[in-house]
Amino acid sequence: MPVKGLGEYDTNNIFARILRDEIPSRRVFENEYAVAFHDIAPQAPIHILVIPRGPYISFADFTAKASDAEIAGFFRAVGEVARQLHLEAPGYRILSNMGEHAGQEVPHFHVHLFGGQKMGAMLVNHGS
Ligand code: 5GP
Repeated sequence: MPVKGLGEYDTNNIFARILRDEIPSRRVFENEYAVAFHDIAPQAPIHILVIPRGPYISFADFTAKASDAEIAGFFRAVGEVARQLHLEAPGYRILSNMGEHAGQEVPHFHVHLFGGQKMGAMLVNHGS
């Protein structure tokens, strides 16, 4: 049952193809719940995308439909990626775009993990 307003999961979206190794990616972490790889167009010195293995379109879809084990496993993986990249002491930012207002481009739920510099204001382009 699709989440209202989100449509069906597109099995050929870019991240689905990355999961199937049809498109190369620079993976930094993977386990049964999540895969993490470098963003192709980094917006910080360290810019990692963490995605669940399951077919979820967005944060809304993931939190509505994934099992408790998948949700816990996924967010633990995000934390583990940050630890493995030694980002905890200097700090980092996580972000997830959901839908049109947030500018979500790839319809497979993902968390951006930014690090390697001070990140500045949380929201830029407010109101533009
Ligand atoms: P969104 O705007 O959906 O939150 O973020 C999508 C992200 O995916 C963007 O930061 C974009 O640079 C990244 N991206 C798009 N295509 C590819 C790809 O083929 N490989 C990788 N590694 N990242 C991609």
